[in-house]
Order: sequence, then C-alpha cells, then structure tokens
Amino acid sequence: MSDVLAPGAVIGIIGGGQLGRMTALAAAPLGYRCHIYTPEKDSPASQVAEKTTVAAYEDEKALTEFAASVDVITYEFENIPVDTVQRLSELVPVRPSQSVLAVSQHRVAEKDFARDSGAQTAPYRHVTSLDQLQEAVADIGRPAVLKTCRFGYDGKGQVKIMDETDLAAAWASLKSDDAVLEGFVSFDKEISVIVARSLDGSCTAFPVAQNHHVDHILSTSTVPAAISEATEQTARTTAVALAERLDLVGLLAVEMFVTGDGGVLVNEVAPRPHNSGHWTQDGCVTSQFEQFVRAVTGLPLGPVDILFPTVMQNLIGSDVDQWKALAAEPHAKLHLYGKAEARPGRKMGHVNRISVS
Ligand code: AMP
Repeated sequence: MSDVLAPGAVIGIIGGGQLGRMTALAAAPLGYRCHIYTPEKDSPASQVAEKTTVAAYEDEKALTEFAASVDVITYEFENIPVDTVQRLSELVPVRPSQSVLAVSQHRVAEKDFARDSGAQTAPYRHVTSLDQLQEAVADIGRPAVLKTCRFGYDGKGQVKIMDETDLAAAWASLKSDDAVLEGFVSFDKEISVIVARSLDGSCTAFPVAQNHHVDHILSTSTVPAAISEATEQTARTTAVALAERLDLVGLLAVEMFVTGDGGVLVNEVAPRPHNSGHWTQDGCVTSQFEQFVRAVTGLPLGPVDILFPTVMQNLIGSDVDQWKALAAEPHAKLHLYGKAEARPGRKMGHVNRISVS
C-alpha cells in the first residue's frame, strides 16, 4: 500500500463539469485537495475546488505546470486528446491510463474490446464509406443505428436506418467518415453498472441501475433495477471483467441493454463517474464519487450496499426552476451544479428520491 496518497495530497481533475464538482466535494472529507483543469471560466467544478487552471487542453505549458502541482491526475470526461494524457503520464500518474481512455473514445475499439473480454454486444460493422455502409446494412439488416465513432453523446451523431431510409442521405447527414453500424436492439430495459478498481487490483461493482431516457438524454435511474438476480449478476460480472481486462485504476461506467430473454449486451463504456451513478450519493453506503477518489488515490474501496431504494431524476433545462419545491420535498435530496444558464437539454442538477421504509 506504499502508493496510497496521504491526506493533503492534490488530485488534478481534467474537466470542469458537474462530475468534477461532485468528485471534488467527495474528495474533501477524505482530506484531499482538488485542482481543476478546464478551458471554462467559473465552471461547476472550480466553484468547489481549491484551485483551477483555465487553459486549453492543447496548452502544453499550462498542462506541464498543472502536472507539477498535483500528485495524481484523473479526468471527468473522455474527449481529451490521448496525446495530452500520454504526455501528462510521463510527469505524474494518470488514472485511468491513456489506453483505457483510447478504448472509450472509439465505438469500434470499445465494441471489439467488449467482445474480446467475453461480453456480448449488438452486431456491428466499422463503416468508413457509403459503399461500406451499403454492405454493412445488407449484412446486419434493418432497422439499424449508424453512429459516429467519436464524440457522440446523448444521441448526437446517430441516425436510425429504417426500411425507407436513404443510405446516401443518412451517410451524408453523419458528417463523418468514421462510423459504426449497429443492429437495432429491441431491448427490454437499459441498465448500467459502475465498477471501481483500485491500485491494488481490488474491484467493486455498484448495484445495477435501470435507466430511462427521454429524447436520448438520461431522465431517471432506478435502483434496484427490475431485473432478475441472474441478470443483475451477469451485468455486474461483465463490468468487473471489462475493468480487469483494462487494468483499470478508477471508475468504469458500462451501459448495457437487457433483451427479452434476460441477455445483457454492452453498449458503451466511460472511464469516469456517470450520470446513472448519481443515486449512490444518497442511496448507497459509498457514493460513486467517493469510490472514484478512493480508487485513484489507492485507498481501499468502500462497500456498495444499497441503503435505500432510490430514483435519481435529472433536472434538464428549465426543470431546475422547480428547485424550491424540490428542496421542500421530504426524502428528495437535491443536487445542483451551479450553472448560470438553464439552456434546453443542459443538465442543471438532479434529485435523488430515497424510499425510507
Ligand atoms: P449511445 O449514444 O450509444 O448511448 O445511444 C443513445 C441511446 O440510443 C441509447 O441509450 C439507446 O436508447 C439508443 N440506442 C443506441 N444504440 C442502440 C441500438 N443498437 N439499438 C437500440 N437502441 C439503441
């Protein structure tokens, strides 16, 4: 355990969003300080952290100074250049490593990796031209989903290929020549598992969250999920297998589909805290943010027993105007992100409704 960071150590967090904010808040009780690196002024994370560097992700001088001022570096979103992380890791430990980041940044690498780890996925083909799209659709069939391999989130960079869809138009609308075609999964449920792995290789998978999306944005996560014990175990075991194969140090969120026969297909992974894990702040013995801090500092991981059945509801855009009523609701725990402007589709906060029996 010689690698454990002592209280007082500084965790560098790349990214200034709400995930960084809640990580910094969870680091404080364990005695750690946080230094945020973000291009954004007055970011949600910097409002609660000791120090912030406001600079571009490509600013080598600022990155070098940042690395010199922290004891470990992590990140709260995955669209950081892998080269940046590679360079930083020559100066200070970066957890999770750049190889984990690289897998999560590309949908084909992600799916190849999931398959190689023994997990199931929807059928998929890498598509880099209209000709390849036509072949892939002939192969996989319709309906299917065409997605850009990089930088997609909340349903952006996706088109559904229906019987009547014109493939040339769909291909043109994607505005990318690096895509994946996936068979459309008529899933029964969407679930996710967040798994933590610490420096010593110990691993914990949080209980499965059942996720409901509205307009491609996560709306609610419910725990426990309404799935069989066998499906719960398969989902958690799958997530642990992925974390181990990646030699992860940190958190990995694994989004999955549950099919009618109880099968579990991996859709996406993200090497960071995840929106579907926010329920843990009020419904679990250890929150995903505390677990994240424990994993990257080398502390032992905490237990992940459910304290209360919980429904996490995202506050998107103007939903946040209800803050007063939500704050007055018994057993509703309100978390706001400190964002000034409630634009449509923007995640402004969330509320965890716990069932206290
Ligand atoms: P993603 O960006 O891959 O997380 O996709 C966003 C949402 O689109 C998912 O949460 C699903 O609701 C839906 N979706 C994505 N891929 C598929 C698929 N292959 N089959 C059915 N629905 C999908």
